[in-house]
Amino acid sequence: MEKFTYQYPVKQYFGKGCAEEALKKEMPDMGNVVMLAYGGGSLKRTGLYDKIRGWLENAGKTVVDFGGIMPNPTYDKVQEGAEVVRKEGVDFILAVGGGSVIDCCKIISAQAKTDEDVWNMFYNEHRLPTEFVPCGAVVTASGTGAEQNNGAVITHEEKKIKGGMVGAHNDFAMLDPMYTMTVPFRQVIYGAFDTISHAMETYFGKPQENNLSDDISEAVMRSVIANIRVLLTDPENYNARSELMWSSAMAENGILKIGKVTDFQCHQMEHQLGAYTDCNHGAGLAVLHPALYRHICEAGAAKFARFARNVWGIEEKATELETAQAGVAALADFIKEIGLPASFTEMGIDPNTDFKAVADSTNITAGCCKKLTHEEILEIFNECR
Ligand SMILES: [Zn+2]
Repeated sequence: MEKFTYQYPVKQYFGKGCAEEALKKEMPDMGNVVMLAYGGGSLKRTGLYDKIRGWLENAGKTVVDFGGIMPNPTYDKVQEGAEVVRKEGVDFILAVGGGSVIDCCKIISAQAKTDEDVWNMFYNEHRLPTEFVPCGAVVTASGTGAEQNNGAVITHEEKKIKGGMVGAHNDFAMLDPMYTMTVPFRQVIYGAFDTISHAMETYFGKPQENNLSDDISEAVMRSVIANIRVLLTDPENYNARSELMWSSAMAENGILKIGKVTDFQCHQMEHQLGAYTDCNHGAGLAVLHPALYRHICEAGAAKFARFARNVWGIEEKATELETAQAGVAALADFIKEIGLPASFTEMGIDPNTDFKAVADSTNITAGCCKKLTHEEILEIFNECR
């Protein structure tokens, strides 16, 4: 096992009604001016906005409204939020939403505490912010696991980069599976696939020898696969939704990553696709994963064969490589079975997109079993068209 340090700083509240209980318990110790941050109007339509605002006001807080955080949140939106925090004297940020809202708030929290430009700090000076406005998150759409860690994905529109940054950890997270009932069903499946992706990007990372983290990863993947199938015939099944919500958390709370070097090459490719096309994260991953894995599974045949056996229940084929390829085929079949797109055309991506520019601007990771070149990344993008 590799050397590691593990700390889990986010307090978790899980289950029906947990947000009200958590806010009642936690808010007396938090700031008095709370920025209530969210995405679109659905939060107001479902009545959740008024409820949360009421809980905060009952706790004696002044509420500052900050809506309109878009999917693929932009760096401009981060700056706008930081400005609101400074101007209104916000001392607690409550994100209500999915990964986009939560990620945006993690960086707002850092930007509001410094006059330096945090993008420049992170990307050019390779320094991390050290001061944060305290944060909490009410998860309404699960999959990204954004509430679990301090990573955030922000789109810098001017630079055409959708990139990972490091911001604040939430002091506490509230995961109520009931809130996912009002999310468009397709979005729920996209989110669940994102969870599988996070597990795979960690599982296929190094080391490849047997380790507990990979055993747990397999359990998370099997659970997500089974529970997506439950939802396909019984969309409101509470147990399946709660399992998916906790799997999403498990994939990003660091436990699966203990002793592992994660890969996240597929995420890097999807991020740049997103920077150029503003596509949905889960959909982009669904299209890219099988193509990427077809490309590299020969180099990592033993691990892909293990994935085939332990995640998809595939019986040993004549050769290890055949077993490995059957695992990748099972993943592609599953993506079709659950109605996710299998090509950029199906995703509605403009065929005139400059895929060479997307490929050339994609970060290359150490690779789980094969380090790619920009030419290979372009080949994979072309296979996905
Ligand atoms: Zn993701």
